[in-house]
Amino acid sequence: MNIPPRIAVIGAGMAGLACARGLQDAGFKPVVFDKGRSPGGRLATRRFDDNLSFDHGAQYVTAHGDAFRATLAGMIESGAAARWRPATTNGIDAAAEDWIAGTPGMSALAKPLAAGLDLHAACEVTEVKRETSGWRIRTAGNAAGECFDIVVSTVPVPQARQLFGAERSIAQALDDVTMAPCWALMLVFAGPVAGVPDVLQTDSEKLSWLSRNSSKPGRDSTKECWVAHATTHWSSRHLELEREPVAALLVAAVQQILGDAMPRVGRAIAHRWRYARTVQALGLPCLASQDGTLFLGGDWALGARVECAFNSGRAIAQAIIDRRCKP
Ligand SMILES: Cc1cc2nc3c(=O)[nH]c(=O)nc-3n(C[C@H](O)[C@H](O)[C@H](O)COP(=O)(O)OP(=O)(O)OC[C@H]3O[C@@H](n4cnc5c(N)ncnc54)[C@H](O)[C@@H]3O)c2cc1C
Repeated sequence: MNIPPRIAVIGAGMAGLACARGLQDAGFKPVVFDKGRSPGGRLATRRFDDNLSFDHGAQYVTAHGDAFRATLAGMIESGAAARWRPATTNGIDAAAEDWIAGTPGMSALAKPLAAGLDLHAACEVTEVKRETSGWRIRTAGNAAGECFDIVVSTVPVPQARQLFGAERSIAQALDDVTMAPCWALMLVFAGPVAGVPDVLQTDSEKLSWLSRNSSKPGRDSTKECWVAHATTHWSSRHLELEREPVAALLVAAVQQILGDAMPRVGRAIAHRWRYARTVQALGLPCLASQDGTLFLGGDWALGARVECAFNSGRAIAQAIIDRRCKP
């Protein structure tokens, strides 16, 4: 009898979910591990008690290829996503680029892909070890670990280096990939911000992005929830600061941009993305061990966008379906 391979997927961001979904749809039963409390990774939405919500990671998605376009179309139809047409500056045309946001938050884009998966959230993988019987995965809550025939990792490259440093050829290829950090600021104003577009992509030394989160579809438009992203340069220089001083510095940077239009700040919270953006991508959809039992991917394989993560995850699923045993 053909015994189906035991497959582990580490990471439930867009790449891990696209991979696990593809495998499950082909009849496999992957087990997904993520250290976060819920799936999505950098497709993240932070909610506060008083009904405030912020997308502090990815702001919107675009589709350049048919596969991601079709997936997004399904999400729009089911209500998990909608088109976002903010008032912008700098000649950005959100309609022409077809910006799409998750509803009611960006993390909603993860949910349809995660539905029905064997997903272990809040479960950090601490070690992945090659053994004669396969790959042993140890997690924070399971020191003895569990064995799998195939392991897929979709964690950001610096974290992959820690887990797979012993896999020489793979570790070497990872050396070519670089990722940069980003400090994000979640900001709620006490009054309306008048006469200012919803999205400002600035050429300021400190901020690269400033947007009215509450202008996205499905958000409470009576609230003035804003999100700012610091530039890569500024984020790198201030990476190890505490969140409070970073919030204060970034509020001052927002003030410089909004000027007199800026109302009193109700709340300002900073979030550090240590591995935010791919600067130098691998240039291939994934890395695979010679024996076809270990696959590494993520946005960093192809670029700095959610669609790159999706394409990487799908490519890994396809490689397993094509090259390995039947489910
Ligand atoms: C501030 C910011 C703004 C962005 N803006 C945009 C945008 O507007 N449009 C766009 O297309 N893209 C944007 N991006 C990029 C986009 O978010 C990413 O390309 C995409 O979400 C990456 O998906 P991924 O699955 O490759 O990685 P991730 O989403 O990072 O997923 C990796 C997962 O692995 C988990 N993990 C890590 N280590 C372990 C471990 N040891 N054990 C278990 N789980 C682990 C993490 O918890 C995480 O859930 C932005 C990113 C940031 C940070």
